[in-house]
Amino acid sequence: MKIIDISIPLNNQTIVYPGNVPVSVTLHQSMPESSSASSSITFGSHTGTHIDAPAHAISGALTLDKIPLKNFIGLCRVLDFSKESTESVTKEMLTAKNIKTGERILLKTRNSIRGFKEFYDDYVYLDGDAAEYLAGLESLLVGIDSLSVKKRGGKDHRPHTSLLYKNIPIVEGLNLIDVNEGEYELICLPLSFTDIDGSPARAILIER
Ligand SMILES: [Zn+2]
Repeated sequence: MKIIDISIPLNNQTIVYPGNVPVSVTLHQSMPESSSASSSITFGSHTGTHIDAPAHAISGALTLDKIPLKNFIGLCRVLDFSKESTESVTKEMLTAKNIKTGERILLKTRNSIRGFKEFYDDYVYLDGDAAEYLAGLESLLVGIDSLSVKKRGGKDHRPHTSLLYKNIPIVEGLNLIDVNEGEYELICLPLSFTDIDGSPARAILIER
């Protein structure tokens, strides 16, 4: 069984979306002064590889703990657009991939090639029409390799809202550098916070 880790490592150097809470990990107690080591961790709910709940972009909508865990585990398809120099993933690009109803879809773009050492304003995002298309297909989950599914500063909120209105969780901050287009088993479980708008997750793909 080959496992591919598609999560961004979390530490004090992890980049965050501008304006978000920085990641801070400090030793709370250490050995030998204490009999055990433990750390204090501060981070935002949209840190690193993380999941957006409907409550992230729609007031009064479902929080992350209300999304069934089955959305986060199971067959998924990675679509590779990393060789395209496009600004966003468009509906036309998606329709060429014959996406079926009820799939989990992960979008690989040149964001994964450029890496996650710094934040770039011009990251590849999901176009509004493309998000509506995936929402119409009742996708179980949509993931992308940018810290936001939406254009930086963009006025079109559909990349978030069209999916979240349908209670389709969005995974952001995936690192798909080591992943080829194809079918995998996905495990991407959020931390068990209650009543929250999003949470970091450990995301892995298992080759079939
Ligand atoms: Zn988010």
